[in-house]
Amino acid sequence: MSAARVKCPTCGRSIEWSEVSPFRPFCSERCKLIDLGAWLSEQRGIPGETSPPDSGESPAPSADDVDSPPRAPK
Ligand SMILES: [Zn+2]
Repeated sequence: MSAARVKCPTCGRSIEWSEVSPFRPFCSERCKLIDLGAWLSEQRGIPGETSPPDSGESPAPSADDVDSPPRAPK
């Protein structure tokens, strides 16, 4: 039987849709990560398009505040 062939969405390279292509539909892990990164940047990486709900100061104290010294009031 012949395995179906698909094109890698990232680079367009034709790969075999079978166990020999563990990263299908991508040709390699690299292309998979590239496509994933592009997708994430499209979803979240749009500056100004989707602003976080907490606009202003940081909503809650976190572990980061430990390192920063307290600001002295003027
Ligand atoms: Zn590829």
